[in-house]
Amino acid sequence: MQLSSDARFQVLQGMCVGGTTVVNNAVCFDVPGRVLERWNDEEGLDAGLDEPELRAAFARMRQRLGVRRQEPNVPLNPGAAKFTEGARKLGLDRPPAELHVVEANIDDCLGSGYCNMGCPYGKKLSMLDVTLPNAQAEFGADAVRVFSECEAEKLVRTNGRVTGVACKLSDGRTLEIAANTTVLSGGAMACVGSVVGTRRNAHVKPGKKLWDVKLDYKPDRGDLDRLVHGLELIGRSFLAAGALKVMPTTFKYLPITDEGGLEEIGRTVRDNTDIQLHSSHPQGGNPMSRSAEKGVVDSRFRPHGIDGLHVCDASVFPSSITVNPQLTVMALASYAADRIE
Ligand SMILES: Cc1cc2nc3c(=O)[nH]c(=O)nc-3n(C[C@H](O)[C@H](O)[C@H](O)COP(=O)(O)OP(=O)(O)OC[C@H]3O[C@@H](n4cnc5c(N)ncnc54)[C@H](O)[C@@H]3O)c2cc1C
Repeated sequence: MQLSSDARFQVLQGMCVGGTTVVNNAVCFDVPGRVLERWNDEEGLDAGLDEPELRAAFARMRQRLGVRRQEPNVPLNPGAAKFTEGARKLGLDRPPAELHVVEANIDDCLGSGYCNMGCPYGKKLSMLDVTLPNAQAEFGADAVRVFSECEAEKLVRTNGRVTGVACKLSDGRTLEIAANTTVLSGGAMACVGSVVGTRRNAHVKPGKKLWDVKLDYKPDRGDLDRLVHGLELIGRSFLAAGALKVMPTTFKYLPITDEGGLEEIGRTVRDNTDIQLHSSHPQGGNPMSRSAEKGVVDSRFRPHGIDGLHVCDASVFPSSITVNPQLTVMALASYAADRIE
């Protein structure tokens, strides 16, 4: 967990073999069409992604991870059933809105509620449980070697080209790995600022520690209004389903017993001292663009102006994806695999 400088905003990321997929909720969405359109807009972000090939990568990842809608046999939290009932009563299931149980890479969920600590029953088909073992089975354990508690500290450069990674093991020993091609996948918080500058003056600041990243975020009135609107909608849904009392996550105790009372949420949330804010979906920092002026990596995931290196994780998103990001990170990785020499 990382805090913003004013300690009012938390960002979460998993630090373990398998990354955040080990502790996430496994909810899967494809990148929305309007977001991909924005990413590829030649006058705008100009990511240069090949849409049919990226869609094919999504299909591959869905199949590989067994992404499926989590119904009808999944034991849902009883609160979810109440929320669904209330949302239906309010007509929130009518187009353009949709109301479904989510799709996720979970098989035979027991409903234990331990997703965010790592499923103890192995039901979540995470990178740790599925992708890494499958890669070792397919390519051999010597070809796919996993070093846990091994921190990449520095990218090694020879004549300007990245030729390996210098790492430190948890017992203090060091390890240098030589590579024709290096792929940086530390996630948005670790990789932000790792690649700085464009073209001739590009340089790499690898091995940034999470706690070295200074994070500032102050929600503006628009952000707070959207947050309040969401809280009101959830409150209305639960009241419609028969809740006697709903309590939003404001610091002030705010028991609400009828629809009229929901207006109090907007009056209570004046700034970030009134409510806890956090994100589990950090993205961007090394945006992809064909233009070195607009982005850090090109459409083959290579930082502009640096040879021998690729970046592939949520940091290359050109803008916020607006939905849960993991499937897009994975689809981009599968798409990138065909483009990495
Ligand atoms: C509680 C929670 C719930 C979530 N639920 C969902 C969900 O339901 N659906 C969804 O789509 N997304 C969800 N997410 C977000 C999603 O898991 C992430 O967006 C996604 O995993 C990001 O992938 P990544 O490859 O960019 O980074 P990560 O998955 O974070 O992987 C980065 C890896 O790099 C390692 N690393 C970093 N620096 C170094 C270094 N210097 N040396 C060595 N290793 C390093 C980290 O330890 C980590 O293992 C959730 C996140 C959280 C925290």
